[in-house]
Amino acid sequence: MLDLSADLADLLQAVCDVESVSGDEARLADAVEVALAACPHLEVLRDGDAVVARTSLGRAERVVVAGHLDTVPLGRRPDGSPNLPTWRTGSGDDELVHGRGTADMKGGVAVALSLAAALTEPTRDVTWVFYDHEEVEASCNGLGRLAREHPDWLAGDVAVLGEPTSAAVEGGCNGTLRVDVVLDGVPAHSARPWRGVNAVHAAAPLLALLAGHDPGEREVDGLVFRQSLQAVGIRGGTAGNVVPDRCVVTVNHRFAPDRTLAEAEADLRELLAGYEVVLTDGAEGARPGLDRPAAAAVVAATGEEPRAKLGWTDVARFTALGVPAVNLGPGDPLLAHADDEHCPVRDLHRCADVLRRWLTAPVDA
Ligand SMILES: [Zn+2]
Repeated sequence: MLDLSADLADLLQAVCDVESVSGDEARLADAVEVALAACPHLEVLRDGDAVVARTSLGRAERVVVAGHLDTVPLGRRPDGSPNLPTWRTGSGDDELVHGRGTADMKGGVAVALSLAAALTEPTRDVTWVFYDHEEVEASCNGLGRLAREHPDWLAGDVAVLGEPTSAAVEGGCNGTLRVDVVLDGVPAHSARPWRGVNAVHAAAPLLALLAGHDPGEREVDGLVFRQSLQAVGIRGGTAGNVVPDRCVVTVNHRFAPDRTLAEAEADLRELLAGYEVVLTDGAEGARPGLDRPAAAAVVAATGEEPRAKLGWTDVARFTALGVPAVNLGPGDPLLAHADDEHCPVRDLHRCADVLRRWLTAPVDA
């Protein structure tokens, strides 16, 4: 049983100590559902291992606060034992909670659960979303399933995703696409290479082109998105004495959210003109949307400048539904999935303070 009125660090530990590696979220989803159902001001809905709780106070704005319940598989503590159950080090302002899920992203979940129970009269109607299967292939994603099957559950003027940002607002996210560049040659015995064409050697000018190309930065809605273009894989060759007849270079391009996937693909094909390019994977980015008043109010509650999110996150799923979305959560994103994953207790309090300020401020402020 989760005690939603507990101190935030205690609640974070309780949420993490219910192990919930992707596909195994049921026990935690049950606990979340039971705890939220005990709050008379919330209507609680469930789909699979996603739990949605919402107020219906007839407010002028509805906002969505979302977080995933699953984690990657357990890691190892320095002594080789698993990194659950959680443990704490330090004290006061420097206290840390360690263990799987503390950074990605049960800190955001703990803050949301605490506020969902405590804020009985928010100035904005709030939909609290806790979902499954974020850390696995996109087709299983619980938020994607809700968007397909219950889009009305996710409706709102703005969404806040509690992924770790060290308690700052990170707006939008870059899009991503992956292509295979296929180089053909003619096989021959490597003792008589003049009878063939070496496909691996043909990759040399391509790699030089990629290494020398900086796709640069683009400013979108006031935030600077740094783009990237990287060869992320190369394969070719059939035997130690054969001139290779085929080489495939996999390229990943992260592009600013003012460009669609189709535009980014077209630009990449232009850069790689003359090469055989096969698109294998892609996802649109998300504009920060911070010019919308509902989103600007979240930023105002932090009192800080927002930053651009460079990785792809589920904010893009809200953007696709027409809901501007930002990331705001406790913990350092660089520690996500790491064996030494941890969350500063002060990040929990800062995120809770920001969200409480936002959700209790007058809507016109
Ligand atoms: Zn995450």
